[in-house]
Amino acid sequence: MKLDVTYHKHDVVVVGAGIAGLYAALKTSAEVDTAVISKVYPTRSHSGAAQGGCAASLGNVMEDHWEWHLYDTVRGSDFLGDQDAQELLVRDAVPAMYEMEHLGVPFDRTEDGKIAQRPFGGHFGNFGKSPMSRSCFAADRTGHAQLHCLYEQCLKHQVRFYNEFFGLSLIMEDGVCRGIVAWDMQRGGLHVFHAKAVHLATGGHARCWKITSTAMANTGDGLGLIMHQQLPLEDMEFVQFHPTGLWKHGILVSEAARGEGGYLLNDKGERFMETYAKAKMELAPRDVVSRAAQTEINDGRGIGGQDYLHIDLRHLGREKIMTRLPQVRELALKFMNRDMITDPIPIQPTAHYSMGGMPTNLDTQVLRDAGKDAVPGLYASGECACVSVHGANRLGTNSTLECAVFGRRGGIKMLDYVRAHAGHEDLPGDAADAAREQVEHLLSTAGSNGVRPVELRERLQLSMGENAGVFRSAEGLARQVQICQELRQQYRNVTIEDGGTYANSELTEAIELGNMLDYAYVIAHCALQRTECRGAHWRTDHPGRNDKEWHKHTMSWLEGDQIRLDYKPVVITRFQPEERKY
Ligand SMILES: Cc1cc2nc3c(=O)[nH]c(=O)nc-3n(C[C@H](O)[C@H](O)[C@H](O)COP(=O)(O)OP(=O)(O)OC[C@H]3O[C@@H](n4cnc5c(N)ncnc54)[C@H](O)[C@@H]3O)c2cc1C
Repeated sequence: MKLDVTYHKHDVVVVGAGIAGLYAALKTSAEVDTAVISKVYPTRSHSGAAQGGCAASLGNVMEDHWEWHLYDTVRGSDFLGDQDAQELLVRDAVPAMYEMEHLGVPFDRTEDGKIAQRPFGGHFGNFGKSPMSRSCFAADRTGHAQLHCLYEQCLKHQVRFYNEFFGLSLIMEDGVCRGIVAWDMQRGGLHVFHAKAVHLATGGHARCWKITSTAMANTGDGLGLIMHQQLPLEDMEFVQFHPTGLWKHGILVSEAARGEGGYLLNDKGERFMETYAKAKMELAPRDVVSRAAQTEINDGRGIGGQDYLHIDLRHLGREKIMTRLPQVRELALKFMNRDMITDPIPIQPTAHYSMGGMPTNLDTQVLRDAGKDAVPGLYASGECACVSVHGANRLGTNSTLECAVFGRRGGIKMLDYVRAHAGHEDLPGDAADAAREQVEHLLSTAGSNGVRPVELRERLQLSMGENAGVFRSAEGLARQVQICQELRQQYRNVTIEDGGTYANSELTEAIELGNMLDYAYVIAHCALQRTECRGAHWRTDHPGRNDKEWHKHTMSWLEGDQIRLDYKPVVITRFQPEERKY
């Protein structure tokens, strides 16, 4: 079978239609021809699931300053975040939030009509000393409100959308990015997008765990685009586990539930956070609360001795739950058949957020090494990127903020780049070859007797939970590296049942699986190498943070079956590493 290829030309092509991608597209569309390609319909991007809020030191509810927000973000990151990027994040948070308000995001309001703000884990006042309400929110549907608003604005500004298009390979020539090749998931067929600038905003990659709060589409396909060009990834060992996923499902009970005053209880009915973070209790950062929850479960204090705990919101009362947490309540009702107005809700830690990703500089340009060398024409922002504002652990509500701040900034920077490049450089003649080979090969396996994608995916997801979860050890991680190697071998014989090109979802799953196996291998390998505890990466065999040897970023390259590592220093501008107690 020879697949058809269709050619398109745009000034800017954004890959991904979450908050980061749409904000970037909105900015470039003001002046140049902009297209967005997205695996899922834009408003189904995972950003739409963000519940709790978006942080900014507006000071609408209590006194606040960007320096305080910066301090919390630096400490939250366990001192692995780059402080120049973190400062940009918290300073730009304020204008970005007002711009979003003016674009039409329906934030909740204070009595005097300002944007309302609520408390969230890890955010404090006065350099960690007092409580803080910093997260701007629209009930518990903040991401939904932001995503829909940005999508409408993009439509208004004539952004061209290619929905259900799967980006398969970047087009690179002489080290410059000239576009991307995508697969039309609905109708079939390859599409070459010729562009002056490509912006990757492909979201997080926590789907390689079985219990995860993230969307089905969060399979790290953007990481595949980067790795397969021999470009590096940064800090891949750092993946955040959120303490309150609905038991067995992983679906999120937003931290807003604790921000509004919810308690975490063990089998004895104790608020166990007293043992782990006496001062900040349930509002300590997520890595701290997840480890506490997992320890309670491991030590047999889960409810009825099982692997779950309770989040209890009953004391908040019906009205507060219905106005501030309606979606969280609905999810618990639908998936657990429990009403949080009258019942405590079973929860367990769930794989939630990817701190690592594509290394970028402050202007969102993708970096090609551990130095400052950027790939011309290639940009990235949002959860897939690692400008390193979150370091080893992200604070709640700093992520939609990162998407807004760096998506917006990336759009502005791409405009400068496009203005300086009058015409499109020629496309290489073999632009579509890699993608064509990949799809034609998978389609050609239809009906043969190999292993099905779902079997490999299950093994990957279960084993990542067992060996690369909240607590990690050399033994488990080495086992996981080996499992990933075996699964990658077996993937060479993966077969699909349907050889058709129209809406072939198994083909999509097979492509996603290939990417998942590659980056999961990188995660396990990087986690095995990092012999310390920092943020979300907790090694039971190497207690304590080891700044002397490990206060540095991991850079990783997938080279065939091997992974090459390099390291780069953390940018420190204001705060030296200190002990982290909550
Ligand atoms: C349940 C949940 C609740 C959350 N709550 C909060 C919160 O309250 N506050 C907060 O700050 N953060 C929250 N987060 C985190 C935050 O929502 C995400 O980090 C953020 O929205 C990611 O946005 P993004 O733009 O980077 O990507 P996403 O919104 O994940 O979008 C990724 C896009 O990339 C596309 N894509 C991916 N690969 C390809 C490809 N190869 N080709 C084409 N398209 C591709 C997808 O179609 C999609 O459009 C939450 C996360 C979850 C899972």
